[in-house]
Amino acid sequence: MKKDIRNYTLEGLKKEIASFGEPAHRAAQIFSWLNQRNAENFKEMTNLPKSFIEKLEEKYFVGHLVCEERSMSKDGTEKFLWKLRDGKHIESVLIKDKKRNTVCLSTQVGCKFKCPFCASGSAGFKRNLQVSEIVNQVLAVQKRHSLRVTNIVFMGMGEPLDNYRNLVKAIHIINHPRGLALGARKITVSTCGLVPGILKMKDLGLQVELSVSLHAASDTLRDKLVPVNRKYPIKELITACREYYDATGRVVTLEYTLVRGMNDSLKEADKLAGIAKRLKAKVNLIVCSGLTEDDYEKPEKAKTEAFQARLRSGGVTTTLRRSKGEDIMAACGQLAAKKSTR
Ligand code: SF4
Repeated sequence: MKKDIRNYTLEGLKKEIASFGEPAHRAAQIFSWLNQRNAENFKEMTNLPKSFIEKLEEKYFVGHLVCEERSMSKDGTEKFLWKLRDGKHIESVLIKDKKRNTVCLSTQVGCKFKCPFCASGSAGFKRNLQVSEIVNQVLAVQKRHSLRVTNIVFMGMGEPLDNYRNLVKAIHIINHPRGLALGARKITVSTCGLVPGILKMKDLGLQVELSVSLHAASDTLRDKLVPVNRKYPIKELITACREYYDATGRVVTLEYTLVRGMNDSLKEADKLAGIAKRLKAKVNLIVCSGLTEDDYEKPEKAKTEAFQARLRSGGVTTTLRRSKGEDIMAACGQLAAKKSTR
């Protein structure tokens, strides 16, 4: 069976190409064609000998994504629904502002972790994405709009650290100067709190940003909102985040989705401030979109503002993010989940 050549890092390609008896620089040429010029087939690689192209075509194919649906929100957020080779669906979201083109990427089809307010979790886990399927989300968005993606967040469908090997290979391709050449600090990995993955990632030697979906400042509540907390409780999670900060120097972001009547009290704000200060972390507050289960409703505006003010007065750097693209269901997995139930 032919293999997808986009699944390889430059190091991996060098090993693959070694058996062809071609000069070593061929791997770098192919890597650049794939990731800098987004070549869709080997014939486009005009600086490779014809005989070598024929040999490559016998063993490999160049993977790509098929855009099945696209929707544009009133706020400019654009959602892409991609069809994979096996007919499954994933999503990416493009968020443009004056200075940045940020793409939110999926890493799995569905998710195992069943956070109750998340559509990806409720759709169940299907499979990990291959390296090619992760990187192709960036390349396909760039191609469609003739733009350069400036920031990447692994915050779409799936838990990135649960697909650790492929995530790291994708990051290497995206970060490599002959790949997509995007600085590590422009790449954010968002996790629900998989402690072993955080600890492995701190030793990568990359300054990738880490964002943790905390959503609750006590174990009792977090067990409910982020069920993986039963395995990796807050204390263990915070220790791992602290180690990440110490090893990389990157300030960790704590994501906290405010849900009406559940985690939006000032008492919770004080507990959250305590954690953030211990960690030297910043807090990103998100207003619950209210699009999934009935129990999870948007908090009142005044409560949201009071919560944020309390964190600030406690000395915590805080931003407030309204859910983008609500009219096109841009929160992770909502469109693909809808597709899988059709
Ligand atoms: S929030 Fe993230 S970890 Fe939780 S179910 Fe959704 S995709 Fe999975």
